[in-house]
Amino acid sequence: MPVAEAIETGRVSHWIGGGARAGSSGRTGPVYNPATGEVRAHVDFASRAEVDEAVSIAKSAFPAWRATPLSRRSEILFRMRELVDANRRKVATIISAEHGKTVADAMGEVARGLENIEFACGVPNLLKGGFSEQASRGIDIHEIHQPLGVVAGITPFNFPAMVPMWMFANAIACGNAFILKPSEKDPSASLLIADLLSQSGLPPGIFTVIQGDRTAVDRLLEHPDIAAVSFVGSTPVAKSVYETATRNGKRVQALGGAKNHMLVLPDADIDMAADAAVSAGFGSAGERCMAISVVVAVGAVADPLIAAISERMAKIKTGPADVEGNEMGPLITRDHRDRVASFVDNATSEGASVAVDGRRDPACKLPGFFLGPTLLDRVAPGMACYEHEIFGPVLSVVRAPDYPSALKVINENPFGNGTAIFTRDGGAARQFQFEVEVGMVGINVPIPVPVAHYSFGGWKASLFGDLHMYGPEGVRFYTRTKVVTSRWPDPGTSKVDLGFPQMR
Ligand code: NAD
Repeated sequence: MPVAEAIETGRVSHWIGGGARAGSSGRTGPVYNPATGEVRAHVDFASRAEVDEAVSIAKSAFPAWRATPLSRRSEILFRMRELVDANRRKVATIISAEHGKTVADAMGEVARGLENIEFACGVPNLLKGGFSEQASRGIDIHEIHQPLGVVAGITPFNFPAMVPMWMFANAIACGNAFILKPSEKDPSASLLIADLLSQSGLPPGIFTVIQGDRTAVDRLLEHPDIAAVSFVGSTPVAKSVYETATRNGKRVQALGGAKNHMLVLPDADIDMAADAAVSAGFGSAGERCMAISVVVAVGAVADPLIAAISERMAKIKTGPADVEGNEMGPLITRDHRDRVASFVDNATSEGASVAVDGRRDPACKLPGFFLGPTLLDRVAPGMACYEHEIFGPVLSVVRAPDYPSALKVINENPFGNGTAIFTRDGGAARQFQFEVEVGMVGINVPIPVPVAHYSFGGWKASLFGDLHMYGPEGVRFYTRTKVVTSRWPDPGTSKVDLGFPQMR
């Protein structure tokens, strides 16, 4: 069935063996339009048997892909880049319909994802190994980087195009067959992308989409023919995926949740810091793993900063993303919206104050899953609204008397995904960069997502595994190294020598 047709019929299928494939398990899940609260489609949930069949097809496709010359792989990736680029709006529109973010925001997501395909186009250079001539007398050594086989990626709802691209671009470029299990909440973008990859000349079986829930994930984590698993999602699931997949002998990188702090020093430009806090706190309704969720205001900066943030928040228009002028859309599901609002409900009894109350936003009266931008003041470690990842449009302010106590708050937080410092003092920024225990740091940059030729990853409860995602560490994750020692001696000089070989 053609992809567009599959999506329009309200049934979101798998992509197996180079084409859309209706599920046969008899199990499906609803896909909502979060702006209206209506069910817009149903997505197939794969059975263990369907996962097994997809893995078997990928396994059969792997040897030929692995043997495909690098120049040819690169050519296909260049074509992939052109096709995704030409279809940005189509992909962004389906993301907006299922996720609720604005089309402009979704276009940004596709653009950041495309960077990873662009990086992977350089695969002939990325896979170059080292060579040591005359490492010992008459002996040369070289290393080669070979693909792992069939690898799986399990992705979250908040970036249904970009996070899969973080994974599959390098996985495929390195010669693996990649199986994607997208979020069941917004699964259609993965089918559009599969179709574009197929049009680019990628052989059937090298990119597979298995739709589903935990049943599909569990089978992928234990399947003997899956060599590696990349996961992005919430911390409890990331931890459990990491533990299960490593127990089953797989290489794993599992990126988890976040609580990103923005430290504002007294010398910062208040307007610039307020612009950054509001943009990074409420873009995509706070449903970004790199969203700023806590502002740590040092000393006297707190009151003017809160006033400047509140003033900007009052101007944010919340409502359906397809209505001109709306900047902040709904949350992904009703349950999630209610969970986010519950942190605001309980904040005052814990000693925080609600400086801007998004529960009173007119959008909350709409049938979709809306909550207006909310600001909590006088939040402190120990409160539920501080300890948990809220993942919604709720920005908390922690007041700190000085830089050391502000740093302590950040370093003692269990998450370590992203952080930012706002200051005009280069020395203070450099000290923060040196001392902070977080994987990605912004200096006057609120959302420091590394470009595709660096790698993305947090510390502490934000990442389980050794290698970060995409960029050079992504290439390492999707390959294993072989070191070859060779010599071409005159057979006449050959003799038996039981001593351990020494390099001389
Ligand atoms: P989630 O953990 O609920 O789901 C992620 C994926 O895991 C989905 O494909 C889902 O189907 C699957 N899944 C869910 N529960 C499972 C279970 N019990 N067993 C096996 N598989 C399961 O996350 P989400 O709500 O889709 O996404 C939001 C979360 O992702 C937030 O915590 C956010 O911080 C995090 N995130 C992190 C990053 C990062 O780079 N660190 C990036 C994006 C999102």
